[in-house]
Amino acid sequence: MDFAIDDATRKRLDVAREWGRKVVRPVGIEADVEGRPIPVGHPFFERCIERGEGRTRWGGPGSPPATGGSVIATLLLAEELAYWDRGVMIATPGPGLPEQSVLGIGTEEQKERFLGPFLDPDRPRWACFAMTEPSAGSDAAAIRTLARKDGDHWVLNGAKCFIGGASRADWILVQASVDPTKGRAAQRAFFVERGVEGLGPFKIEKKMGLKAYESTSFSLQDVRVPAANLLGGEERYERKAGFKAAMQTFNAGRPIIAANAVGMARAVLDESIRFAREHDLLGQDRVRDRVEVMARKTRMARLMCLRAGWLADQHRANIVEASMSKAVAAQVCQEAATLGTELLGLGGGRGDHLIEKLYRDAKAMDIVEGTGQIQRMIIARQLVGLPR
Ligand SMILES: Cc1cc2nc3c(=O)[nH]c(=O)nc-3n(C[C@H](O)[C@H](O)[C@H](O)COP(=O)(O)OP(=O)(O)OC[C@H]3O[C@@H](n4cnc5c(N)ncnc54)[C@H](O)[C@@H]3O)c2cc1C
Repeated sequence: MDFAIDDATRKRLDVAREWGRKVVRPVGIEADVEGRPIPVGHPFFERCIERGEGRTRWGGPGSPPATGGSVIATLLLAEELAYWDRGVMIATPGPGLPEQSVLGIGTEEQKERFLGPFLDPDRPRWACFAMTEPSAGSDAAAIRTLARKDGDHWVLNGAKCFIGGASRADWILVQASVDPTKGRAAQRAFFVERGVEGLGPFKIEKKMGLKAYESTSFSLQDVRVPAANLLGGEERYERKAGFKAAMQTFNAGRPIIAANAVGMARAVLDESIRFAREHDLLGQDRVRDRVEVMARKTRMARLMCLRAGWLADQHRANIVEASMSKAVAAQVCQEAATLGTELLGLGGGRGDHLIEKLYRDAKAMDIVEGTGQIQRMIIARQLVGLPR
């Protein structure tokens, strides 16, 4: 395995580090202290656009399929940004989680209509992916949001929750079912544009951590979308393509979540050493023992994550490695945050130290895009040769 990166990636990492230190971390702490997502009109978002962020990987009409570049480079950048603040990283404008599905199976017309505005955005723009429902989280095949065909439209009815950035998104890729009794085979994904009648109201969820980005619940009541808003077009939906599209989104995302968790564990480690030095604690075995555990396990998680990325760069199957990296890195991140909080002593309970914030941020890393238990189920099924 070769995890070497080129000069351009090294430069991008340097730039991300500076941006992270000067802007991302302060904005994340501000959102945490104020207990709300970064408001849409916050100057941070304009600065993102000025820096050329918030763009799609799609190359424009007639362009060859987007490759996305080196996965290793993507993971290292994801690690670096989450080191400074994972909530702010997710709040950053862009086509986000559903972009992969649109690139993978969207029609050319859909790429132009829905990714086109992200080619050179005139303002901060967001998109999001809505799968989870109040009674369907881990069991994504159990979603109840109903899609009914009505002439040349689809009519959507249902409720979604904990959806990242839904109230500010230009469009939401909504996962729905044409027949909830038929499980995965009946699932399809629809582009639902902002402002369409029946969409909302949006309720921002209260979260323990990662406060910089909004997680939102909303309902769909007789929401009518044109037939052309069915992701990939009608012919795609034979042989469970709708569910596969959603899983494609998550498969590509798992090592990125793992890289985020590694970045956050690294932040805990650095802050712990800084705290111990400032309080003259480095001479204590109990302190050095905790620092050693954090460093060793973070390195282990990082190697697993990079291995998943390296396999993807070689165009080799990485389902097991992607799930392993996510399951392990999320646990390591939580363990590091626990050890770091212990080091703070009484300060850990006061709620005014960055390590305490990271402790609250860390839990979500085990939940999003498939919990630790679900990753272990995926790994076990792969190991014994069962379909996922
Ligand atoms: C911060 C945050 C952001 C999110 N962003 C999005 C988003 O943008 N879009 C979106 O669609 N969703 C999003 N989600 C939702 C997320 O995908 C779900 O929370 C997740 O899938 C788990 O579902 P659940 O919370 O309903 O838990 P449940 O599925 O009810 O699980 C509860 C517990 O039971 C365990 N469990 C469940 N089934 C099994 C099993 N068969 N075997 C063993 N253990 C099991 C789980 O691991 C978990 O520990 C977000 C969630 C959070 C916290």
